Amino acid sequence: MNDESASQGFQGYSETDAIRTQFDRTDFREHSVPLYLTSSFVFDDAEQARALFADEIPGNIYTRFSNPNNTEFIQKLCKLEGTEDGIATATGMAAMYLSMAALLKSGDHIIASRSLFGSTFQILNVIFPRFGITTSYAELTDPGSWEQLVKPNTRLLFVETPSNPALDVIDLEWLGQFAAAHKLILIVDNCFATPYLQNPARWGAHLVTHSATKFMDGQGRVVGGAIVGKQELIKEVRFFARHTGPTLSPFNAWILSKSLETLAVRMERHCSNALKLAEALSSHPEVSLVKYPFLKNHPQYAIAKKQMRHGGGVVTFEVKGGVERGRKFLNSLKMLSHTANLGDTRSIATHPASTTHSKLTDAERAAVGITPGLIRISLGLEEFNDILADIAQALQVSGS
Ligand SMILES: *Cc1c(COP(=O)(O)O)cnc(C)c1O
Repeated sequence: MNDESASQGFQGYSETDAIRTQFDRTDFREHSVPLYLTSSFVFDDAEQARALFADEIPGNIYTRFSNPNNTEFIQKLCKLEGTEDGIATATGMAAMYLSMAALLKSGDHIIASRSLFGSTFQILNVIFPRFGITTSYAELTDPGSWEQLVKPNTRLLFVETPSNPALDVIDLEWLGQFAAAHKLILIVDNCFATPYLQNPARWGAHLVTHSATKFMDGQGRVVGGAIVGKQELIKEVRFFARHTGPTLSPFNAWILSKSLETLAVRMERHCSNALKLAEALSSHPEVSLVKYPFLKNHPQYAIAKKQMRHGGGVVTFEVKGGVERGRKFLNSLKMLSHTANLGDTRSIATHPASTTHSKLTDAERAAVGITPGLIRISLGLEEFNDILADIAQALQVSGS
């Protein structure tokens, strides 16, 4: 593995890059990126076709391999993350799966943080073991627990920070050094933070994965994903993707490229609404615990401050009264949406214990930080006072 930082020379997220990254303008002189809905591309002659297939010249052949919209979206994302290369995928889960499957073989071992997105956990726990790939789980909040899990066949580290829904944070600088010391590939799911808040490649992550479905689109319209990072690893991922087919639709790539133009202003509002809500709920008598990376009582507050621009758009809190009260709270909301997504213009509330994580036992839920009355709020872009008023009235109604 090349030790040079993938992000050498990276000046940090630039709103100008998000809006002004160059694209190939056609003879129509369009101002905005055009949409290329075509499944294949025409060859000038037999020699050009041969050279394209032999990778001797760059160019599009077939949209499963590449398409101008996917390339434009991913080049912009690479600029914003400070990475060399990347690939767009049909969903966030395609990105998580591909980033690992493309680089591993039977007999390899993964170390992953325990609190992970549910489908990522299913890949590691159910799907990969069928192919002889095993995983050990380390505590995100306890860097001391990682060293003892390294085995001779360990190849890769996979983490989410901040994690969903526990909002735990790991020190990416420490993790980058740990990965380098053991010559392991470090993959970070940066979906909760987005490139605007955090750039894991700066701290030594080799690949950064995204569900673009969440804050990146941020408007609840499309599903999509991305993997960006080291060129030599992306080359492996691209080979795997080209022959297995989890390509992002060019239409969704076009949407997501436009979404990146407004990511910074949207994240500013998501995050300021989230911090205000976390502060307001901290003194609420019906709430026993509020968790938010930029609240001073968060166990990894100092680390979050070091590696994140803001604390993110998601706040969790524990409503007094357990599972029943959690369900009643959800049923009492009048404005907030009750839907299985996050990172939208509309604020969303979820109760993991009775929905996404209902199949786990209390002990299994506790291990990933999900208490019976835990409520997760994804802050939207509405007026803060309207969001707070709805949550306050639902807390009151559900308690009576
Ligand atoms: C939603 C999510 C995913 C999966 O993304 P999809 O676009 O739904 O496939 C992966 N990781 C995290 C942290 C997520 O929140």
